[in-house]
Amino acid sequence: MKIPFLDLKSNYLSVKDEVMKEIQDVLENTGYILGPKVAAFEKAFAEAHGVPFCTGVSSGTDANHLALWALGIGHGDEVILPANTFIATAWGATLCGATPVFADCEAGTYNLSAEAVEAAITPKTKAIVAVHLYGQPADMDALQAVADKHGIPLVEDAAQAHLAEYKGKRIGGIGKITSFSFYPGKNLGAYGEGGAVTTHDANLAEKVKLYREHGSSQKYYHQTYGHNYRMEAIQGAVLGVKMKYIQQWTDQRRAVAQQYKNLLNEVPHITLPLEASYAKHVYHLFVIQAEERDKLSQHLNENGVSTGLHYPVPLHMQECFRHLGYQEGQFPESEKIASKGLSLPMFPEMTTEQIEYVVSQVKSFYK
Ligand SMILES: *Cc1c(COP(=O)(O)O)cnc(C)c1O
Repeated sequence: MKIPFLDLKSNYLSVKDEVMKEIQDVLENTGYILGPKVAAFEKAFAEAHGVPFCTGVSSGTDANHLALWALGIGHGDEVILPANTFIATAWGATLCGATPVFADCEAGTYNLSAEAVEAAITPKTKAIVAVHLYGQPADMDALQAVADKHGIPLVEDAAQAHLAEYKGKRIGGIGKITSFSFYPGKNLGAYGEGGAVTTHDANLAEKVKLYREHGSSQKYYHQTYGHNYRMEAIQGAVLGVKMKYIQQWTDQRRAVAQQYKNLLNEVPHITLPLEASYAKHVYHLFVIQAEERDKLSQHLNENGVSTGLHYPVPLHMQECFRHLGYQEGQFPESEKIASKGLSLPMFPEMTTEQIEYVVSQVKSFYK
């Protein structure tokens, strides 16, 4: 049996007719950038996350940049973010000319530790970026308390956490400003690149819109510096269709996770992902910690099960950040998940038969 890591094809087939019609509409109306379909998607996405403002942009990485840019982060500033995240979280800071400052995660949730953040604060700290890693919200109240104590904005990187909830409230409007990604493999995926920035703050939303479009609200008149970070109309059209199904797909992901947990519960040598009491996890990824991780991964791959590593090298150990002077051993929890974490196949369309096969292969490895 062959189990893909994710199955974008079956997801596409489930929305094919609707999506094709919407794309054809865009092609015939010849408005290929932004336009009414992007605006409609922005409105639906904002509503789904309980925020008044959503700006569709060109990628999650660009959304990371825009969120910090709108906050006025610049040269000489420091931005605290987790050591265990995708590199793009750090690009948000570097693209503003700021320095990323890494902090370790909590052992159980793998999300940014408020104590670690507190210890990393300096007079130069100008923002804290919490990543809702693998689809589970970070402990926002604890992080907000640190942010408030120092008068620093708390930012959310929600690239992996569409529709996730913290204490019964959707993420995306808990911190000051939030970035999302619609990279095809994310829980809500475009058919190309895409991202969004959400916020409660009209002033920040206005800035994001200006920076997205060359610092201009009237064509050829430029109030500020900017960039071209616009969303393509086709992506807005695709995402608009997918918005109708994202709740259902999220429920399916949670059901897949529950089945994995039930079936893997008794297996020694592995640690299952934990859902914090305050969280509604949306399982972008299902990451276990495994003894002999590399051998398990090899065994699964040899038996047709695709797996992933998220992420094998923590940011403080990346070559590109060597000049920042971090040492191995400095962030033990981040290093542990990098060396022991293994992402099992996870997608909404996964069948019980597929889940059972993955589980049987994990079990056979440790027998
Ligand atoms: C995917 C991802 C991004 C970047 O999104 P892109 O759309 O691929 O640019 C940023 N942060 C995190 C945590 C991500 O997982």
